[in-house]
Amino acid sequence: MGTFKDFMFIQLKEVRKIYALGDTKVNALNGIDLTLGRGEFTALVGTSGSGKTTLLNMIGCIDRPTSGDVIIDEVNVVKLNEVELSDFRNKKLGFIFQTFNLLPVLNIFENIELPLLIQRNLSASERKDLVMQAIEDVELTKYIHHIPDRLSGGQRQRVAIARALVTNPSLILADEPTANLDSETAHKILDLMQSLNEKRKVTFLFSTHDEKLMSRVKRMIRIVDGHFASDHA
Ligand code: ADP
Ligand code: MG
Repeated sequence: MGTFKDFMFIQLKEVRKIYALGDTKVNALNGIDLTLGRGEFTALVGTSGSGKTTLLNMIGCIDRPTSGDVIIDEVNVVKLNEVELSDFRNKKLGFIFQTFNLLPVLNIFENIELPLLIQRNLSASERKDLVMQAIEDVELTKYIHHIPDRLSGGQRQRVAIARALVTNPSLILADEPTANLDSETAHKILDLMQSLNEKRKVTFLFSTHDEKLMSRVKRMIRIVDGHFASDHA
């Protein structure tokens, strides 16, 4: 592993998240401390309701913690305003979701290009080069003109992976990316993410409730009721 800075790439300090639900309060995260190094491939494992999505949303700058610090690449994102946050999210982070979240009216090329359109400094030909590289990385080049409906679940998730990769993010967050796939396809998606982690050196943090999938993952963190129950490298 590289420098101290790389080792401390992501740091969570005493992160708590309390949701108000009518009169009651839900303690979704109960003081999470976490350090992830640059280039790591980490699985976050826990049953439904354990806090996986909440934790990924804190790191993904989609939601803010009730208290605590979230430091990504030396930036304490808790201190950023909304405009700074969305800029940070677009430039540094990639997201993969359980339900793929592709836009049905756009073809595969256009779906993958979407995050690049927000980065206004890129020309059309620069965008095309980046999209073609990302499509190639997920081995879907021959489907670029298809719409998502024509693709299988596994292929759609590969498109979503390409869309997450296309901006060359420092970190990809994947929230139960294999939950809607059969187990053979789930293993293939996991293999693809691992090979991209090695090839593109992009840091991955992904959640799952399926421990069977985890045999080849280097680091596995188990979350129970908003606490870390174990952390195995
Ligand atoms: P997981 O992704 O592991 O299934 P979540 O992070 O979605 O778990 O949820 C953790 C806990 O927080 C659960 O008890 C859930 O019901 C609660 N929760 C999540 N989001 C909200 C919300 N927006 N409002 C109220 N409670 C929530
Ligand atoms: Mg969830």
